[in-house]
Order: sequence, then structure tokens, then C-alpha cells
Amino acid sequence: MSQYAEIVVDVPTQQTNRPYTYVVPTELQEEVQPGVRVLVAFGHRSVLGYVVGLTDKLPDDLSIDQVKDVLTVLDDRPVLSAELLDLAHDLAEKNFSFWVTFLALMLPTSLKVSYRKRLTALAGLSDADRVDYLDGQQERLVQTKDFSAKGWRAINRLQQAGLLEVESVIENQGRVKTELAFQTNDDLDELSNIGATLTKGAKQQRVILAFAEAHPGQVFSKKEWLEQLDVSLATLNAAVKKGILQKVQVEVKRRPASIASGKADGVKTLNAEQKVAYDQITKAIDEQEDKVFLLEGITGSGKTEVYLQAAQKVIDRGEQVLFLVPEIALTPQMQRRVEDRFGEKTALLHSGLSTGERYDEWRRIHEGKVQVVVGARSAVFAPLTKLGLIIVDEEHETSYSQSENPHYSGRDVALWRAAYHQAPVVLGSATPSLESRARAQKGVYDLLSLSKRANPQATLPEVSVVDMRQEQLDRGDTNFSKPLLEKLQTVLDRGEQAVLMLNRRGFSSFVMCRDCGFVPRDPNCNLAMTLHMDSLTLKCHYCGYQEAIPQTCPACGSNRIRYYGTGTEKVETELAALMPDYPVIRLDQDTTRKKGAMAKALADFGQKKAQILLGTQMVAKGLDFPDVTLVGVLNADTGLGLPDFRASEKTFQLLTQVAGRAGRAERQGEVVIQTYNPEHYALKYAQKHDYEGFYRQEMAIRHAAEFPPYFYTVQIQCSAIDENKVALQTAKIAAWLKKRLPEDVLLLGPSPHSIAKLKGRYFFQMILKMKDPNEADELLRDLVDRSQKADKDFALEVRRDPVSFM
Ligand code: ADP
Ligand code: ZN
Repeated sequence: MSQYAEIVVDVPTQQTNRPYTYVVPTELQEEVQPGVRVLVAFGHRSVLGYVVGLTDKLPDDLSIDQVKDVLTVLDDRPVLSAELLDLAHDLAEKNFSFWVTFLALMLPTSLKVSYRKRLTALAGLSDADRVDYLDGQQERLVQTKDFSAKGWRAINRLQQAGLLEVESVIENQGRVKTELAFQTNDDLDELSNIGATLTKGAKQQRVILAFAEAHPGQVFSKKEWLEQLDVSLATLNAAVKKGILQKVQVEVKRRPASIASGKADGVKTLNAEQKVAYDQITKAIDEQEDKVFLLEGITGSGKTEVYLQAAQKVIDRGEQVLFLVPEIALTPQMQRRVEDRFGEKTALLHSGLSTGERYDEWRRIHEGKVQVVVGARSAVFAPLTKLGLIIVDEEHETSYSQSENPHYSGRDVALWRAAYHQAPVVLGSATPSLESRARAQKGVYDLLSLSKRANPQATLPEVSVVDMRQEQLDRGDTNFSKPLLEKLQTVLDRGEQAVLMLNRRGFSSFVMCRDCGFVPRDPNCNLAMTLHMDSLTLKCHYCGYQEAIPQTCPACGSNRIRYYGTGTEKVETELAALMPDYPVIRLDQDTTRKKGAMAKALADFGQKKAQILLGTQMVAKGLDFPDVTLVGVLNADTGLGLPDFRASEKTFQLLTQVAGRAGRAERQGEVVIQTYNPEHYALKYAQKHDYEGFYRQEMAIRHAAEFPPYFYTVQIQCSAIDENKVALQTAKIAAWLKKRLPEDVLLLGPSPHSIAKLKGRYFFQMILKMKDPNEADELLRDLVDRSQKADKDFALEVRRDPVSFM
């Protein structure tokens, strides 16, 4: 029994970013626990609050008459564990955000609350006011937006005059789904008495009675009664009248459709390399060591098999597994593998679920009914309490970082939670992020390698690089080179399948010479510059350097220098003209917008309803089709034009991933990469499947240029509706920072955003580079604080280790 509760209120500002003390009234003693949400008075309003602690001692600077009561409790049991309360606090600190913002982020949308007010007419309210504010009724529920500021002032006046009552109503938005069920009477004597009153003809009632006597006090859904006893609803209702049954509402959990194949997935005997990895991971599981493993394994080397077997070990220990995958909606194949192995013990959390499904999956986890959670980024906050292992598949994927506010890295959250639970983490990838690989180099992570394809008959595909500069000279503007067309024809003739990828990353935001492949780079940073059509300039997003768009290529003098890009639809049309006899399945944002469309397209391809799969980066990841023997990359260059120091890394990763789709079974696979930059090292290493070689060269470049992982970066993004204002403010902030930053922290910029105007706002950014990641923290917190107090229209966000600089 504690007298006071420490409560974080739902007012996300720097000034209110701390717990406030409230009195726990006697009648709420039981319900007020850390992790429940409550309603409290704050200033003149009632707001939602999160109980983060209990105490019997009032802080020294407060007297009892300054402390208000907790008004009501919204949850009948805590929705956030002590772990998640702590985690939210740390994340807010680390990411220059607010505690309450992260607390809210951890809960499913259905637990978001709606703020409304109940207006009630009191004696003396005029009819005119009743019409204006209550729609002519006695009582009305309204939202803030229902009235203008003037309207609300009038309502306040009426309240003060005692003519109107105004009450806050805060409700969960989520609804639990229920269905009709019938419960049998548990009183056997009563049942036998009822039996004596039944007439001879009441055959159906006797069936129900006999069943009730065999299962007294049990609940069965309407559907179960109808199916199992073959009775009608009318008969059930009659049994209710007689007292044999009673009607009850039972909760049903909405579940995402299972795509389990129905076949038990055979547990494979691990090969030698897999066994080494498995043994090390399970040793850490057994010894409860929060080790971090980097599982570097080429595509198809059996990483997933290692994850699944390690997960099994954790389940056998009665603990839980968190299995993170990038955008799981995109990988139904992965979902199926997990479901085939762990069935009902699995929960799924990803953006493809409906709000209700997500709420119910979350509650299944919260109620402790689940042992494996498979999900995308936000699943890292799943309310698991007995974590024994966290897996981060494709750990290099940037989708693990949330770039919108609040910014956080899902990978870092995984590490935090694993340390809290003393559980190991497995970061898996064929192409680890440089940051992770460098940490493994330094011994911070344990490196585990899988160097061969797991299927003994499968080998890595042969990769050829086609120089599109020559092709264009020979055959004019086309998306298909001669070597690619010939190989495609051969594969199709043999009845096999092909995957063609059009890389839309960095699409048409940069300029390239069609004759020599030259991409204009900025002289300071040597980064590809971004095209700004509004000002007809090329700009460097790091340092702000700019120049006019060139009319002719500075390298070869050609006038075929233009921005670069083409859509999947256009490619599809060209392909249809070239290969009229072969249907194509297209996979891009347009064709997969509808729920389930992606899974269907992939299922169709799997059933060989088409031999060609054409798509964007979506086709690069996780697909495992045994008959795919050719992969074609139509434009390897777009990624190289990214205004980002990770451009080569991202290109290498993408090419390696997509190449890994070919030749996964017995038949040898082939990959054709079309490019205007055949000499680029990212392509050369991808061609040789040489991650380690790429890693070494890229590290040398990063070292020379002082980029991550040698340096840490922080991005400061400013925006406003008024372009002049944001330009001016950002310049002022830059000057302010420059005066205060430690000497060894570098400030780059400010520079405008490539899409200068987004949703009616203008964006500018600055980048800080530093050796010690926390060197500027205090200053940045001060900056966030000041910007909060400044002009409403001006917004400032600080992002640590941003993964994108667009
Ligand atoms: P990755 O996750 O590294 O891409 P997977 O786990 O998907 O690799 O394995 C690739 C293929 O090899 C799958 O079809 C899988 O069933 C198979 N496989 C994995 N491990 C073994 C093994 N030890 N023996 C035989 N086949 C295996
Ligand atoms: Zn620059």
C-alpha cells in the first residue's frame, strides 16, 4: 500500500518530461500499480497519465496540499512492465524525445485513448445556448475540434456561470470482440429436475440436457453447439428458457490468417558450420549471457534454420523468443516457416494486420499465451516477460530504424532488452551493416560465419556484369541488354523462372551521363549530389555545396547527361513487347497496396503461374523459389546515386540479396547486373560474393572520409511552413551551435532537403560528426528545449545515427 504515485502525464513537452506526484486515494489502492494508465488533473485539464512508480514519501519540495488525487484508473492490470517503463525512459533520453512519447509508442493503437468532453445542461441554460453547444440536447460528447477557440471560451463562461457542466472523458479506442455462447447449468440436481419435466417428444432438449450433465458449467460458442450437437439455434434458445443453458458473451481473439502449410516442417540436421553457431548461441541461452552474436552467413546458408533451432531450445526452457524481421508483410515465406514449426505458440505483429488483429495479438502476448513473437520493427516492444533470445534477421536493414518522430533504432532496443533479460541476441545477415561487422572485429560482438549454401546441391550463382554504356550505343534506349535477353530466353525455354529487379531507390533524384556513367559529385565530400528541380541545382546534402545542373557531361562532353530513372510499368511494357509469350507478375507499391496482394502474387509465382517476376527492391529479400535460375538487375546504378555515404554499402547489400534469389536448389543459378558503372567496387565485390573484401575496402574509405563507423553522426532537422523563416532560424541555430560545440565535433550544413517542400513545410538539415557519441548530448538537449519554447510553426528534430539523409 503506497500513498503516492509517480505519474508521467500525456503532455509531451520538455518542461513536463518528468514524473509528477499524485495521491492514491484509498479506494484506488489496489488498482494503482506501476504500468497502469490513470486519469489525473493537470493544470486546468484532466489528462492521461502513466504510473511509473509508487512511493510513501512526498518529495521534499512538495507539501500535501499541493498534491492532487489520481482520478480514475483506466486499466485493470498494468499494460507496461517495469522493464518497458525503464526502456521508455532511456530511449527518450537517448533520442532527445519525451518519456511519455515512448510510453505511448509501446502500446498498440487500440490502447490509444480518445480525449472528449461531456457537456451537460444545467438549470437555467438558455435554449439558444443549448442549440449552439449541445445540439439542442441535454447532454453531448464533443471533441476539441468541434468548436473554435471562441466557442470554447463561451463554453468556459457558461461553466463558470453554473449553466453547463463540463467533464473530461478519456476512453480506450480498442474494442474487444465478443461472440454469443451458451454455458451449461452446473447444478446437476437442478438439471435432473428439469429432465423430469421434459415431454417424451422433446428429443432435442434431451440431447442438450445429456450434454449439459456431462459438461456442467462449461461454455461453448454458438458455433460449437450447432456443429457438434446438430441442434438449431431455436432449440438452444428453448434450452435457455428451461434453465438448462444460459447465454453468455465470450471474447474472441481476431487472428491474422495463418499460412501454415499444414506439413510439419522437418527439422534439418545442421551442417558443421551451422552446428558451431548453434552450439555457441545455445550455450549463451543456457548460461543466460547477454552476448551479441553476429551471424554472417551467405544467402541460403541456413541462418533461418539456426534461428529456428535456437528458438526451439528457448521454448523448451519455458522462455520466450522475439524474432524480428524487416517488414514481415513482405516475407510470407518466413511467416510460414515459423508457423510450421511453432504453430499456436506464435504471435505476429506487423503493419499488414488490422488494428483489431494487432490489438488481439498484443493481448495474447500480454496474457502470456505466446512463446514466439515474429514481427517487424515495432514488435521489439512486445510485452514479453520471459525473454530468452532475440533474433534480428537481416540486421543491416534500415527499416529497423524509425525515421519519423520519435526516432529510435529497433536494433539498439533489441540489445537493450536482451541485456535486461540476460539473454543473447543473434544479429543475422549475408551483408552485415558496417557498424555491426566492425563491432565484431573489435570483439564487442561474437562473429559466427556460414560460408556455404546449406542445401548441399546448391551453389552460389555465377554473376556477370553488363556495361550498359556499350549496349546503349549498340541498341539505343532500352532497359534490356542483349546478354540479359538471351539468358532470359534460355531460362524460359527450359521452363525455369526468372526474377527481374528494377532498383527504384534514389530514383531520379540524381544526374548521370548516359554515355560514360558519370555522376556529379560534390568536391568537399565526394558524395553524389541531389537534384533540386525547383532551383535547377545540384546540392550536397552534407555540406550544402551547390552548383547548376550541367548541360554537358564534365567527364566526356556528351550532352546525354540527364536524370536517371524508369518505372516498373514502363519496363513491363517493354518486356511484353520483347517476350510476348510469357506472362509477367509485377511486384511494386502499386500492385501490392491491397492487403494480401503480395502474398497472392508470390503464391502465384511459386505455383509457376508465370515464369517472370518483375519488381522493385521488394523482390530482393527473403524469397526462396527453387526454380528461379536467373536474376536480372536492370539498373544497378540508382543506389550509387544516393546522396549518402552509405550509397555503396546499400548497393552492395541489395545486389548480394537479389543475387541470392537465384539457384537456391539443385539447378545452377545465374545473375546479370546491368550498369553504367561496371568498374565500381561495390559491383565488383558483389560479383565475387565477397562481403569481407567489400567490408575492408569500404572501411578504408569511411576511415579516410571520417564517416561512421569511425565517427558518430547526429542529424538536426528543422522545418517550418515559411521558407525564409526556416532558412534564417537554421542559420541562427548553426551559429549558436558552432560557438558552443566541443572543438572536435564537426558541424556540416545547413543544407536544404532534397524535396524542399514536404506536406507544406520546408526542411533544412545539419549534421554533426563526432568521435564520442554522447559528446554533444547536453547541448542538443538544451537546443531541443529552446526550440520547444520558440515559435509554434518552427519544428526541430534531432536524430542519432540516422540511416537516411534524403
Ligand atoms: P538463409 O536464412 O541463410 O537464407 P535458409 O535457412 O533459408 O538460409 O536455408 C536455405 C535453404 O536450405 C532452405 O531451403 C533450408 O530449408 C535449407 N537448409 C537449411 N539448413 C539445412 C541443412 N542443415 N541441411 C539441409 N538443408 C538445409
Ligand atoms: Zn558536400
